[in-house]
Amino acid sequence: ILDFGIKEALKQLGVSEHNKGTSTGLNWFSSKETIASYSPVDGELIGKVEMTTLADYENVIQTATEAFKEWKIKPAPLRGEIVRQFGEELRKQKEALGKLVSYEMGKSYQEGLGEVQEMIDICDFAVGLSRQLHGLTMHSERPGHRMYEQYHPMGIVGIISAFNFPVAVWAWNTALAWICGDVCVWKPSEKTPLCGIACQNIIAKVLKDNNLPEGISCLINGDYKVGEMMTTDKRIPLISATGSTRMGKIVGATVGQRLGKSLLELGGNNAIIVTPDADIKMTVIGAVFGAVGTAGQRCTSTRRLIIHESIYDKVKNAVVAAYGQLRIGNPLDENNHVGPLIDTDAVKGYQNALQKVVEEGGNIVVEGGVLSGEGYESGCYVKPAIAEANNSFEIVQHETFAPVLYLLKYNGDVENAIEVQNGVTQGLSSAIMTNNLREAERFLSHAGSDCGIANVNIGTSGAEIGGAFGGEKETGGGRESGSDAWKVYMRRQTNTINYTTELPLAQGIKFDL
Ligand code: NAD
Repeated sequence: ILDFGIKEALKQLGVSEHNKGTSTGLNWFSSKETIASYSPVDGELIGKVEMTTLADYENVIQTATEAFKEWKIKPAPLRGEIVRQFGEELRKQKEALGKLVSYEMGKSYQEGLGEVQEMIDICDFAVGLSRQLHGLTMHSERPGHRMYEQYHPMGIVGIISAFNFPVAVWAWNTALAWICGDVCVWKPSEKTPLCGIACQNIIAKVLKDNNLPEGISCLINGDYKVGEMMTTDKRIPLISATGSTRMGKIVGATVGQRLGKSLLELGGNNAIIVTPDADIKMTVIGAVFGAVGTAGQRCTSTRRLIIHESIYDKVKNAVVAAYGQLRIGNPLDENNHVGPLIDTDAVKGYQNALQKVVEEGGNIVVEGGVLSGEGYESGCYVKPAIAEANNSFEIVQHETFAPVLYLLKYNGDVENAIEVQNGVTQGLSSAIMTNNLREAERFLSHAGSDCGIANVNIGTSGAEIGGAFGGEKETGGGRESGSDAWKVYMRRQTNTINYTTELPLAQGIKFDL
């Protein structure tokens, strides 16, 4: 293991070479089969995690069900106090956890720290929210009646997460679900299981210190088969699943089959429109960070640049020049801009996309390629590439989870660019670079972007926790994090109270006995 303080970080987080993978909060269970976690940074084996068996899973669900009985009757602000303490623990563990995220997933240490900061921020947000789980009051049509609505805890929330945000996505869900009175069972990505162990250790300490019931936070580990234990389980009213559209279609159908609720956060195919009124310097920074940050492995990564023909060459040349400055290498070394892809399968997906775009008639303007030699032993480092393409190409329609940027040209009005931007099956993040008020407002209007996120003079990548996060179409329609996203973790109830001695019926219906 490279010397970037990784060993110390693992020790601090209670992650060892061999870890039990199933936890009901304080108790951990053993099983025989393991998942091995190799770092994409240097190809080393970091540690192993035992996979959850069906018997372990039953234990988890029974413990979570018991915990829910106690947790749901605790006043929401007191649940908020526990989330506050969790946020405090995260502050203490920020550097260690940020390092593990970077080493196990491959994103830069700065981005690893940023991910932990997001966890802290959502905790703060949730603490305030724990006193604001508001419902509305209504005026009844019946005399002497009062109507209002309430939000009640729902039960067990099953969380299935992707490799690229191995800790933040869990916290986005749990911090809100906990203040809402739910208990959580988490299956992290099988590509980043050690991040899950570290997080569970952090929350387990808080649960223990507060003498809280086990089962408020549970962990299970394994591949899709372990995920399926939850998606098919009627005892889990809500499944929050983050990952590919392919996965979301299966999970959505499985949960829908039993009329459960699902919150789906799936793939994107995000574009920036660059109009003749764009600030080119800002455009270049936004586009390059969006396309190569996290080695193009963010759901909000910039995949397409839709550039007006009048400035096409200027923007293209500026972006190509910026790519010439990129340093690719160990993400724990802050001199590097671009780290590795998650594994060699992802490298194959990247190579395949570059081959396909050429076959479909595209033109490569920044050559890609897999790096080898000293520092690149894991085989997961690739060169960010750029291709001129057409929006109708099959490969452009597809989300390739790698640093491949497509340049698309538009002419005429901004409407033409919006049509291209909307002309994909995904609908997560979108942006326009313009100083023209009319163009910006049109892009944000009901005739504009069809995405869950639409930005002006900011790239597509990254989001703040205060806003609801998620996308439309094949991105799945779910919303997490800020605004009123908390409502999905609660069941809604409308209450009518009659404080008279009469029993008038609604709609004036007569029913005399
Ligand atoms: P993936 O779909 O391969 O796996 C995601 C998770 O789903 C894993 O935990 C996996 O074990 C589980 N899973 C897969 N099939 C399942 C099934 N049939 N039943 C139950 N669980 C199943 O995704 P990935 O490669 O880890 O992540 C990359 C993808 O995630 C990209 O498409 C990216 O855009 C998307 N993503 C979206 C968001 C968002 O908020 N919209 C955020 C992060 C990542």
